[in-house]
Amino acid sequence: MDFDALFTAQLDALKQEGNYRIFADLERRCGDFPRARNHGDEGARDVTVWCSNDYLGMGQHHEVMQAMKDAIDACGTGAGGTRNISGTNHYHLLLEEELADLHGKEAALLFTSGYVSNWAALSTLGARLPGAVILSDAGNHASMIEGIRHSRADKVIWRHNDVEDLDRKLAAVGPDRPKIVAFESVYSMDGDICPMAEIVEVAEKHGAMTYLDEVHAVGLYGPRGGGISEREGLADRITLIEGTLGKAYGVVGGYITGSAAMCDFVRSFASGFIFTTALPPAVAAAAQASIRHLKSSDMERMKQRRQVARLRAELDRIGIPHMANDSHIIPVMIKDPVKCRMISDILMDDWGIYVQPINYPTVPKGTERLRITPSPLHSDEDIARLVEALSELWSHCALARAVA
Ligand SMILES: *Cc1c(COP(=O)(O)O)cnc(C)c1O
Repeated sequence: MDFDALFTAQLDALKQEGNYRIFADLERRCGDFPRARNHGDEGARDVTVWCSNDYLGMGQHHEVMQAMKDAIDACGTGAGGTRNISGTNHYHLLLEEELADLHGKEAALLFTSGYVSNWAALSTLGARLPGAVILSDAGNHASMIEGIRHSRADKVIWRHNDVEDLDRKLAAVGPDRPKIVAFESVYSMDGDICPMAEIVEVAEKHGAMTYLDEVHAVGLYGPRGGGISEREGLADRITLIEGTLGKAYGVVGGYITGSAAMCDFVRSFASGFIFTTALPPAVAAAAQASIRHLKSSDMERMKQRRQVARLRAELDRIGIPHMANDSHIIPVMIKDPVKCRMISDILMDDWGIYVQPINYPTVPKGTERLRITPSPLHSDEDIARLVEALSELWSHCALARAVA
């Protein structure tokens, strides 16, 4: 059998639709964020990155890097095993304490990524709570969807951020079945924020547990970076808070926090926690340094907010349509996969500006977009240049402008 022909046929279909993924070959340059080297067909050149999830540039923060270097000097590279078999390092436990404190919870549990934490925690809770029903927001991330699917628990999807729909659907589930309401605080692609107080209210009314993904909010919202749940004073009413160490914290890894019993439960039964090598101790040390820094420093968050507001105002001024939301994510809608790729290519080739096109299946077909994430390290000049480039492109490609 010609397997490669089978692979190629499906890849060709993807290319036809304009949904074939091309990765930018980047070399991040320490101390120069958001600048990076882009290795293209015609050699390497400097570009300004406008789509990084290292939202605050913490991946190049001197305290974070020093913590990682010190831990490498102290412990070496890898953890040397799964958490159960010799791989639990003291740095993991310090980080778990830091995380529990961040969210005001009894305990925390580390995973190799945010994806794995969602997948492992939801599949374990759904599979092991007898008769469990998971009520999942329609906009939830792939990692939650896959975890729920793997759990084989009954799943009910409620309309995105629609608390009345959630209420109705919770009421329809038998009162004795364990119910898990799974949702996010800041949704990654639209940048919208959930009505958390109302969701918590409805979940409590029906005796459901709440499972909250704060991946795009930790480090960024709340006085100590504890996310939207901290900002709204709701963290103590959320059963489980999940987050990542790879976005605003600038390192890698994922976690859940909650009661000691619940974390012990997931620790003891989740295959995605048990059967994999623990994170390198140096990764844990760096993540802890980043969290600790952002617990006390507001400067990065304030500067980021300023640059986000500035770019939004500039886009409004020249009539570039972008989705309104209350977060740091600015989606500029293109609504066509081929155009989206083309605009991204021109930005890169002609302007040295890198914004990855976001196409299906990351977003629904017809909602293709450029997802722009200004950081505290993008200067006013960077913003002016991006706006100039977009303005020229909008004229050049005869794209619709928003009417003021
Ligand atoms: C990125 C993302 C994750 C996964 O986190 P990683 O640490 O990158 O694996 C989980 N949930 C949401 C909403 C995300 O956007």
